[in-house]
Amino acid sequence: LFQVNGHNPGSDGQAREYLREDLQEFPGGEVLLYKLDDLTRVNPVTLETVLRCLQARYMADTFYTNAGCTLVALNPFKPVPQLYSPELMREYHAAPQPQKLKPHVFTVGEQTYRNVKSLIEPVNQSIVVSGESGAGKSWTSCCLMKFYAVVATSPASWESHKIAERIEQRILNSNPVMEAFGNACTLRNNNSSRFGKFIQLQLNRAQQMTGATVQTYLLEKTRVACQASSERNFHIFYQICKGASEDERLQWHLPEGAAFSWLPNPERSLEEDCFEVTREAMLHLGIDTPTQNNIFKVLAGLLHLGNIQFATSEDEAQPCQPMDDAKYSVRTAASLLGLPEDVLLETVQIRTIRAGRQQQVFRKPCPRAECDTRRDCLAKLIYARLFDWLVSVINSSICADTDSWTTFIGLLDVYGFESFPDNSLEQLCINYANEKLQQHFVAHYLRAQQEYAVEGLEWSFVNYQDNQSCLDLIEGSPISICSLIDEECRLNRPSSAAQLQTRIETALAGSPCLGHNKLSREPSFIVVHYAGPVRYHTAGLVEKNKDPIPPELTRLLQQSQDPLLMGLFPTNPKEKTQEEPSGQSRAPVLTVVSKFKASLEQLLQVLHSTTPHYIRCIKPNSQGQAQTFLQEEVLSQLEACGLVETIHISAAGFPIRVSHQNFVERYKLLRRLRPRTSSGPRSPYPAKWLPEWCPHSEEATLEPLIQDILHTLPVLTQAAAIPG
Ligand code: ADP
Repeated sequence: LFQVNGHNPGSDGQAREYLREDLQEFPGGEVLLYKLDDLTRVNPVTLETVLRCLQARYMADTFYTNAGCTLVALNPFKPVPQLYSPELMREYHAAPQPQKLKPHVFTVGEQTYRNVKSLIEPVNQSIVVSGESGAGKSWTSCCLMKFYAVVATSPASWESHKIAERIEQRILNSNPVMEAFGNACTLRNNNSSRFGKFIQLQLNRAQQMTGATVQTYLLEKTRVACQASSERNFHIFYQICKGASEDERLQWHLPEGAAFSWLPNPERSLEEDCFEVTREAMLHLGIDTPTQNNIFKVLAGLLHLGNIQFATSEDEAQPCQPMDDAKYSVRTAASLLGLPEDVLLETVQIRTIRAGRQQQVFRKPCPRAECDTRRDCLAKLIYARLFDWLVSVINSSICADTDSWTTFIGLLDVYGFESFPDNSLEQLCINYANEKLQQHFVAHYLRAQQEYAVEGLEWSFVNYQDNQSCLDLIEGSPISICSLIDEECRLNRPSSAAQLQTRIETALAGSPCLGHNKLSREPSFIVVHYAGPVRYHTAGLVEKNKDPIPPELTRLLQQSQDPLLMGLFPTNPKEKTQEEPSGQSRAPVLTVVSKFKASLEQLLQVLHSTTPHYIRCIKPNSQGQAQTFLQEEVLSQLEACGLVETIHISAAGFPIRVSHQNFVERYKLLRRLRPRTSSGPRSPYPAKWLPEWCPHSEEATLEPLIQDILHTLPVLTQAAAIPG
């Protein structure tokens, strides 16, 4: 176990006292707080002092601060090019002790990179970037990718240099493509990622980046067909409409100034609307121009699909017809999607039901609202498949051969904690993911205290919020919110929103994390998350969890003559069963929650197998203004991530735990410096670790090892710097 910053372990924070001299005073008595690079040096560590320190640093244009084992990144909301130059990247990379330079995302990047070759802990590393929407998570991940593209690609030969350059370019090119298709302008962030992603940067033995893989989570596909007021659809739709050439406009039926219901706020011009950048990046990823044009044609088809408005049918037995001006949209959508016009329309208008032993087919015209739902569902289905396909293309373009990489650095960029006036299944999943990550963090840093007691170290326990009971409430077994919602889907029984609320509140009444639901007018339940209580409305929850895809829609798309859609919807009987309604299928119902839970578990498994590093992104104000630090807003973010507890433990605790065996394995060579004498103290190591006496001539061979220690274990060097 090692100390950090020279503080004595086991103290109650008093150890920080002697660092007071760092706090120089203005003549007026104001403390130069902005000079404090590490929040463990703030004295005393309280929310208020941490907030003041961050504010002082922000106003002094200092955007990164260490908080012990975590890096706090404040969003500058303005370009700071000098902070991200390749020269600065190289400076951090070349520094003997990067942690002695100013706190930066590059310090985390470099430390992680050096840890990869360390034997001390599992070699694979991960960097978890968290924060609320607009806090700078994607920026930070992108910045780290650029950093590795510079520092992890310097092979010896020209030929391998070219290969590395190509890989690096492809990895960087995956960003604009994923952003164009997966990001949108929201109230909180003009370029908000509407999906979570975990990128694994693959490194070979020489620590050069040879490839990468991307895993995505929970794309907000409803956005294709439904956007909140003042928000926008995914960037790519605006890019096409603004950036298409005359010829393309004709082909895709996108005349200039055309109005589309699924393209709200087109007048807002964003720098993200750059069609050329997306096309160029797609080309680099191996998506050729004809395929690109095919993709854009299908997307134009979706825009026309969105313009199909139905009129209510007077006669229930007759299908709702499209309104007069929507007939053109039906024709155009059908032609762009490669579908027969009448079949497209009929599939949206009429539900087919199979019933009875013979599975007889009944056709039932849908009411207007259901026609709208089916139309939207069609668009979501196409967009989600297209997005998954793009991710798979990106992966096949950037993934290294299995034998060309040995270790990886994972970058996790997931949506932050969300709490809106109206929260539903999407927020439940997002907040569930955040609870899991918080637990991972707690387990790694805060629960370690329990080990101190076991090992007999003097230690006064720092309280922290353990979110296990909240996770039990959400995902626990046998009964939890997830299991109850899933059960409703499985039983497929008609139950109202109020009934679901009652079921949840009755079955989980004993949970300390189920909030008191007094003020509710609409059926809902409250979960007390580590970041605060959130009210989830139960209306529509079960339906969203089923995410029903009428099988007719899939069958319709399987008839498409469009080459892209033919690839996305093959006539593969295996795939069909998944989308048959539960009554007809033998396969278990895969609900949104159960799929999300499974992918989350997989992710956590990967994270557990790595050494994690944390970057907490903080949004200084919700207007996205530079030089504006709103204390209230920052305070709630600091509370939400438990930063103060983290600082307390980092300041007084032991940030590194190494198993005895690993430690000996790595540093046994140093034992050679001391001859084995029979009169010396009894060695604590097993006999097999005791090396032979090392003659002076061999001492030179220890030099690289010592250098390695100095580089890979900064805390050791800090500890070594303490007098005595
Ligand atoms: P998140 O992924 O957390 O939702 P983003 O990474 O998209 O947030 O950041 C939101 C916006 O803030 C970005 O589009 C960018 O304009 C700005 N931003 C974030 N971090 C920085 C930074 N370090 N320097 C300059 N601008 C930044």
